[in-house]
Amino acid sequence: MDTLFRLDILAEEADFDLLAGHLALHAVYGWEEESLPTGQMLFRLHCEQEDWLVQLQNTLWAVAPAARYVLERVEAQDWLAAWRQFFTPVPCGSRFVVLPPWLADTKDFPGRTPILIEPKSAFGTGHHATTALCLSVVSELLDSGRIRAGQSFLDLGTGSGVLGIGCCKSGLHGLGLDIDPLAVGNAVENRALNKVEGFELATGSVDGAAGRCFDLVLANILARPLTEMAPQIRAAVAEEGCLVLSGLLEIQAAGVIAAYRTEGLPEPRSVLQGEWCALVWE
Ligand code: SAM
Repeated sequence: MDTLFRLDILAEEADFDLLAGHLALHAVYGWEEESLPTGQMLFRLHCEQEDWLVQLQNTLWAVAPAARYVLERVEAQDWLAAWRQFFTPVPCGSRFVVLPPWLADTKDFPGRTPILIEPKSAFGTGHHATTALCLSVVSELLDSGRIRAGQSFLDLGTGSGVLGIGCCKSGLHGLGLDIDPLAVGNAVENRALNKVEGFELATGSVDGAAGRCFDLVLANILARPLTEMAPQIRAAVAEEGCLVLSGLLEIQAAGVIAAYRTEGLPEPRSVLQGEWCALVWE
């Protein structure tokens, strides 16, 4: 395992811009920044070459001598293992468990449908409350028979594809859309990883579903786009279909509900996890 060295620079506000400017010139591989409660800024760099960090420290000290510099060796550890530790399995609702691919063979969650997600930049590893809320609502809708195998879904803001994959593994088929092409790339990869069929994926927003209706519409985005897209999202829900909106805080729910009331929908059921809220029209 390679040894790493870490340079911490603790700076007062007067030196923030100066240090950031010099780091931009000399530390092109990047650094971390953290605003501390004391009002100071912590700049942190890691490098395998101690000499290079010493040289950088000298350069920065020449322009910002008041800052505090700490250069130390970082205990060797298995970085891949450390990163992997973060992606723990997440049981969601009564039916699902979201797993990273290296835990695909776990026997720890009997009876749950595994959704394998390769952790990349796309949102949706199951760790965020809004994803868990959606999967929990999908579990309830399946348990009650309100949605069932053979029906169709729209997963608007698909991210990693986690919700769509959960639906497909429950026998539904449908469409996942996301405005972020990197997210769609990740969703395509996860679709293959889970070997699901009937999950169409495309880059784009609700316009990509224009003219189509779905038995279940899931949109885990944010309060503002959900409000702005209310007419199009409403139009995508089949008669007798279900709509699940998430990505909003409980305090934002009233505004979102009002936008969908204008589209003729009744009061939804609210499901909460912490400060996050999902709205369910079933
Ligand atoms: N569906 C996943 C989940 O439940 O974990 C990801 C949800 S993530 C909170 C929201 C996703 O919506 C992001 O991937 C973002 O790129 C996408 N997004 C944001 N605005 C959008 C829009 N107007 N139309 C489609 N996707 C959008």
